[in-house]
This record gives sequence, C-alpha cells and structure tokens, in this order.
Amino acid sequence: YRDQLVLRPLRNISPRGARTQQITVCVRKRPMSLRDREAKSVDIISVPTLDSLIVHELRNKVDLTKLLDHHRFRFDYTFDEGCSNKLVYEYTARPLIRTMFEGGNATCFAYGQTGSGKTHTMSGEFSGKSQDCTTGIYALAARDVFEMHKKDVAHKGAQITCSYFEIYGSKVFDLLVPGKPQLRVLEDGRQQVVIVGLTRTPVSKVDEIMQLIERGNRVRTSGQTSVNIKSSRSHAIFQIGLVKPGDWEPCGKCSFVDLAGNERGADTQSASLQTRREGAEINKSLLALKECIRAMSRHSTHLPFRGSKLTQVLRDSFIGGQQNKTCMIAMISPGLGSVENTLNTLRYADRVKALVAKEDELTPMQQLKKTPRYSPEYNGTDNDSVS
Ligand code: ADP
Ligand code: MG
Repeated sequence: YRDQLVLRPLRNISPRGARTQQITVCVRKRPMSLRDREAKSVDIISVPTLDSLIVHELRNKVDLTKLLDHHRFRFDYTFDEGCSNKLVYEYTARPLIRTMFEGGNATCFAYGQTGSGKTHTMSGEFSGKSQDCTTGIYALAARDVFEMHKKDVAHKGAQITCSYFEIYGSKVFDLLVPGKPQLRVLEDGRQQVVIVGLTRTPVSKVDEIMQLIERGNRVRTSGQTSVNIKSSRSHAIFQIGLVKPGDWEPCGKCSFVDLAGNERGADTQSASLQTRREGAEINKSLLALKECIRAMSRHSTHLPFRGSKLTQVLRDSFIGGQQNKTCMIAMISPGLGSVENTLNTLRYADRVKALVAKEDELTPMQQLKKTPRYSPEYNGTDNDSVS
C-alpha cells in the first residue's frame, strides 16, 4: 500500500535528473520468502524513504511487540521488496553504462550474505516456467550497451565482447569454456594486469548474452549441493567490453560482480578447515575492495590492488581520474534470523559510503529534492529558496 502511494510516484522521477556520482552505494531488501514464512520469521526491515532504511532489532524474542533497537541507515538509494530488477538497474548500473563509451571502466558490485538476492539481481532467474523468469542487470545493461553502440559514431567499427569468469579462493576460472579451465593472472612492468586466455566472445544481441550467462551459471552451480555451496563462496564477474578493430584489450568496459557471500560463520569451531580458508580469503578480498574504493575516491596514485585476486583483476576499475565509476548494491534479507548478517552488510556499505563521502557533495536524492518543481500548483513561495 505504502509502495503504491509513496514509492511509485516518486520513483517516476528519472534517476538521470540527478548528477551521477563517481561512487554510489545502495541497498536492496529482498521480499520475505516462503522459507522465511515457514520458519515463522518476521520482517524486521522497513524502508521509510527512498534513501534510508531501518533495522528493527528485537531484543526480546518472545514478545514480538517489544521492538527495542532501531538502527537507521542512510544511503544514496534504498530499494524495498516492491522494487523490480528493472527499477534497481535504472538507479544503479544504468547511469554507469555511458562510461565505457568514454574510455572508462564502470563497475557494479552485488554485496551481501548468501540468499540475499545477489544472483537474482545480477543474473536474473532462468526458469523453465516463463512467468518465473526475471531479467537481471547483466542483460538489462547489455541491451543499453547495444543501443548506445548503435548511436555511437566514435566507435563505429568497434566490437562488443563479453567475458564471464569466477574467482574461487585465489584462482580464476573461465565460465564460458566447457570444463571451466583455470586462468593465470599476470602483471607486466607497468602494473597492467592481464588474465591470460580469458574468452572474449563477440556479441551483438541480448539473446546471445542471455545464453552465455545461462551457460556460465550452469558451470558455476552445476547440480550437487556441495557445488552450490561452493559457488556462493566465489565471486562471479561478467564483463562487457568495447574492443577497437585490431585490438585485444577493450578500450572501455563494464564489469558486474556477483560477490561471494559475506556471511560470518567461517570462524566458528564447527567450520571445516576448507570453509575457514574460504572465509578468510573472502574476508581478505572484501577488505581489499573497500580499500581500493577508498583510494579511488581520493584519486590516489597508490592503489592497494594487490590485496586480493579480486581487486587485482579489477585494477582498471579503480585507477585513473574521474572517468571510472562504481556502484555497490548491498543486498539484505528481511528476516529476523538474518539480523546479524544484515547489520554486518549494512555496516560495510555504510563504511564504504563514509570513506567516499565528501562534505560538499549532495547525494542523488538530495539533488532530486533540490530540483525546482515546475508543476502548475507551484507558486514560487518555497521557504528554502529564500536566502
Ligand atoms: P544470493 O545470490 O545472494 O545467494 P539469490 O539471488 O540466489 O541469493 O536469492 C536467494 C533466493 O531468493 C532465490 O530463490 C531468489 O529467487 C529469491 N530472491 C532474491 N531476491 C529476490 C527478489 N528481489 N524478488 C523475488 N525473489 C528474490
Ligand atoms: Mg548467488
């Protein structure tokens, strides 16, 4: 109800009305699942405005009416369970796409615990039943890339290519080649990082992209539960690049990263050595990621990209001046049972936001609110216009 009354009309404001920032941090809450309901879990997240979010932590788990702790967070945008992939895309990845045609690198991260909706948002769902299919950010972005490429005279002969690979532990695997071969990552004297032998498939239609993603996801998650668990412990990276004729490396690209689940639990006694190692490796990469985003926001010449394989292969995304753009979408589960992981996710995102915040910069929502209203009712007597 609130969604219809408040969110719909406001969300109609084009996100393009706001100046795009170099680094954007957003949060998306997924709906309560059947599993949550069966476990009699309650929804403890509310999204009262388009840029804030409250976690109602229940101190007293017996009496559900006693809501004791409220944690309020503020981000560039917050999306509640009524928001579609399309809408999330419009505000997060879409403003970044142009970057690759300007010779820069755009990067979009999905961060959060396993089961919070990272893959749903990035890949979408490929189900046999057509009503269950949802398009994810990869394909939505690809469609806009093709569209822009058609109009782009500067890169007439250039080819759009895509790659899909995963990082598990500190190993890189090509998801577009049967058998998922391991790839070597090399760095030359000028600190340029190359993934040797990474497949770059030329593409010209969204359908082709969808097929590649589906194929890649099948390799990533094929069958057994153990593999499924493993897949949530890996980072999946989908890249769309613009390659000039005769070149091999793209002159601009968009990277979409479905990060490994950030949940704790790897440090508990019961966890196997393998699980603990995975957890440590993931922690290391998420820490390195935060540091690289911080360096990026400061246009720092020293980039700590060697902190992990993830930041090493994404080095191009963080270097350079203003031409690179990044967006982080932190995904959260609504249920009470996930409260610890949810707070961890929000605190990480909050930290990233704080690291990049500049005093004199308005968030996109604040900019929208400052946009003059040219509606007929507007009588020009806005209080805040008097100065
Ligand atoms: P993750 O990749 O973070 O582990 P998934 O994307 O696999 O999580 O999501 C877990 C489950 O929740 C899936 O069954 C998915 O269909 C469902 N889900 C996640 N986000 C949404 C959403 N926004 N709307 C509907 N279902 C969702
Ligand atoms: Mg996933």
